[in-house]
Amino acid sequence: MAQRLIVIGGDAAGMSAASQARRRRDRGDLEIVVFERGHFTSYSACGIPYWISGLVPGPEALIARGPETFRTEYAMDVRMRHEVTAIDLERREVVARDLKGGGEVRERFDDLMYATGAVPVKPSWAITDAGGVFGMQTLDDGAALRDWLDADPQPRRAVVVGGGYIGVEIAEALIQRGLSVTLVEAGEQPMSTVDSDMGELVAEAMRGLGITIRGSLPVSGLEERDGRVSAVVTAEGPIPTDVVVMGLGVRPNTALAEAAGLPLGPTGAIRVDRRMRVPGHPGVWAAGDCVETLHRVSGLPVHVPLGTHANKQGRVAGINIGGGYATFTGVIGTAVTKVCDLEVGRTGLRERDATAAGFEFVSVIAESTNRAGYYPGARPMTVKLIAERPSGRLLGAQIVGWSEAAKRIDSLAVALWNGMTVDDMTQLDLGYAPPYAPVWDPVLIAARKAVDALAALDR
Ligand SMILES: Cc1cc2nc3c(=O)[nH]c(=O)nc-3n(C[C@H](O)[C@H](O)[C@H](O)COP(=O)(O)OP(=O)(O)OC[C@H]3O[C@@H](n4cnc5c(N)ncnc54)[C@H](O)[C@@H]3O)c2cc1C
Repeated sequence: MAQRLIVIGGDAAGMSAASQARRRRDRGDLEIVVFERGHFTSYSACGIPYWISGLVPGPEALIARGPETFRTEYAMDVRMRHEVTAIDLERREVVARDLKGGGEVRERFDDLMYATGAVPVKPSWAITDAGGVFGMQTLDDGAALRDWLDADPQPRRAVVVGGGYIGVEIAEALIQRGLSVTLVEAGEQPMSTVDSDMGELVAEAMRGLGITIRGSLPVSGLEERDGRVSAVVTAEGPIPTDVVVMGLGVRPNTALAEAAGLPLGPTGAIRVDRRMRVPGHPGVWAAGDCVETLHRVSGLPVHVPLGTHANKQGRVAGINIGGGYATFTGVIGTAVTKVCDLEVGRTGLRERDATAAGFEFVSVIAESTNRAGYYPGARPMTVKLIAERPSGRLLGAQIVGWSEAAKRIDSLAVALWNGMTVDDMTQLDLGYAPPYAPVWDPVLIAARKAVDALAALDR
């Protein structure tokens, strides 16, 4: 008799796992049932800001594979608009509600893949029936915001609450659509994924685009008029608006797991081992935004909800479910984004992470350009490096600059992954030609500066 895999959640982690398992085991050997409560499978939430701005079409363009493809080409039983409401680990069953047709089904499993993603942080003041308030997590959220922006009366003013990378990307999208945009942030400035000195460069660029930034200003409520949001409430008074987009981050979607008794780690996300197995529960797997993972530099468990990890972790789980052997060995926190033409990249530890993890370190900031100074289009690039003292091992890096800045972080991520010291890095054989870099690449200049800073301290 065929074994049975049940997948909860039909996006990056869930469908990567299901596809890998199918590649290794045919339908006679492994039956695969996927429950997805939404309208889409395998979609790119990452593309939503560019759909909002009108740069890319959607939502179809953001879907890698729809349910019909998984049914016909991958022989999976994909049940859309089905929400799993309970997991019975004793009986090895899940209970799912049919959100469209009504009714409930119970399905047995041998293997269970838990891939429910994350849910947006929503403070109590944001729970409202007023129109014009949006979270930004799924394609359905993107569609709802687009409909609001296109409807009559067309909104002219927008407030984005929260300046993480999603808030920053949505603020960019809204300004590109011609709205007057205010970004309100409880911290000092947006982009807290980088240190505040680098975040200030991002804030400056956003102001240059016409985005108003209100830092150190928590939002405490919403005002509404005629069923529509009319302002966000702050300690410095209301900020009038026609639309509010929430960008306060996400938390792992673990409600079902908790109720079933699956173990959570210190970050509040599900604990898994390096093969994506849930410890103590044979045949139960989890991956993506709902799990925590090892930070390879700090050695601490972290919750880093990014698509790049969800896809890799799902793949690892699927290979193992399919009878192969694969491991996910942790993250170093590499991420890139942009605000119009300004690019931001980061990897490893920020200063506050390095302090919290107990490292002694130096940090340096090097100003340079993306191309040879004389080459047309040369623009500033700022590289920050954080290096352990006295070993010189790279602990973290951040880059803010114009074209060719963001993906330069990848060479630093490789150095970090491999435990290189800033001294080793000064010798790196990086490409040079005037259209692509100054003769000393900004990464090399920063590495030299870090070596000098370490030497000065130990003199
Ligand atoms: C606007 C935006 C921009 C982003 N940009 C980037 C980027 O540039 N780079 C990057 O790496 N990452 C980015 N991300 C993050 C990335 O999209 C997520 O990390 C990734 O989608 C996580 O995949 P996942 O499969 O773990 O979870 P999800 O994609 O959230 O999928 C989980 C699925 O489970 C379903 N589900 C949940 N509970 C149940 C249930 N009880 N029953 C049935 N189905 C259920 C949900 O409907 C959902 O479809 C972005 C996210 C957003 C919102």
